[in-house]
Amino acid sequence: MAEIPTDILDMHCHTAGIGSGSECFVSDALRNSWKFKQYLRIFGVKKQDIEAKGDLLVMERISNWIQESRYVSGAVILAMDAVYTNGEMQEKQTEVYVSNELVYEGCQKYPGLYFGASVHPQRNDALEALEKVKEQGAVLIKWLPSIQMIDPANPQLEMYYRKLVELDIPLLTHVGDEDSFTSAIDSLSDPYALELPAKLGVKIIAAHVASSGSRDGITNVQRLLNMMEKHPNIVADISTLTQYNRRKYIKQILNSDTLNGRLLYGTDHPLTNTPLVTPWQFLFKLGFNKCRQIAAIKNPWDRDVELKIALGFPEQVFAKPKDYLLD
Ligand SMILES: [Zn+2]
Repeated sequence: MAEIPTDILDMHCHTAGIGSGSECFVSDALRNSWKFKQYLRIFGVKKQDIEAKGDLLVMERISNWIQESRYVSGAVILAMDAVYTNGEMQEKQTEVYVSNELVYEGCQKYPGLYFGASVHPQRNDALEALEKVKEQGAVLIKWLPSIQMIDPANPQLEMYYRKLVELDIPLLTHVGDEDSFTSAIDSLSDPYALELPAKLGVKIIAAHVASSGSRDGITNVQRLLNMMEKHPNIVADISTLTQYNRRKYIKQILNSDTLNGRLLYGTDHPLTNTPLVTPWQFLFKLGFNKCRQIAAIKNPWDRDVELKIALGFPEQVFAKPKDYLLD
């Protein structure tokens, strides 16, 4: 088996905020759903502790885990901008808002954390906001089009894309169907919708290799591969690929020539802390002893790295986020 790499950068890591000492919020619908309690649990925090200590507690917890990890030494923490239409923030349509301010502050305060900003392109100040976060050290811009109501194919976004190119900041965008929120418009996360930014030369990171759903009888994975064959400026991340509904694509992804050298290691924390990613799903491939050994690893990052190594992801996938994002 491959040597397990160290000093890894996890380029896809979420935090959350409920408005305790920050402008972050979650919608009432989410707060009242069973998912809210589950999210707190997998983030490893208690509601009363966040209320007492503030939203940064979630990032402090991540930083501690990262420092305890044997293999991972850094994580890109992703903000999540609100929904905007015609320049106006749509609070009622926003399920989760994680502000750039909060994430920036946490990255300043806690070791091992890197700023992944989120700037909705329909904000009136979108271009200035991109410049600001770049100055603050943001290593990428994150979108979740199907939730944030962003149509990547909208020709009005051309200036925004040109600004990304000018600032040399990659766009990490969700592709494929979304299942972590209460509702989503999946057509906005079609890999083919990325034609415009790809053509304009934006460095695009396609999240999860689009490993969910299909359109016109073609899986989103295949749609992404078709795009990547045309556009060398698209890469993809392997976050949450071990989830039970995504694992069926692992073999295709590992065997794809198109993806060779173009995969980045990420976790999608906190989703690595759900039973949906248990190594026991791979009992047939890994064997009993290996599954038991991995399942017993306490640190979520170490468990994720060991599982993905055991499944055959090559070492370069784990080294790539540092090269790609930090130079
Ligand atoms: Zn994610």
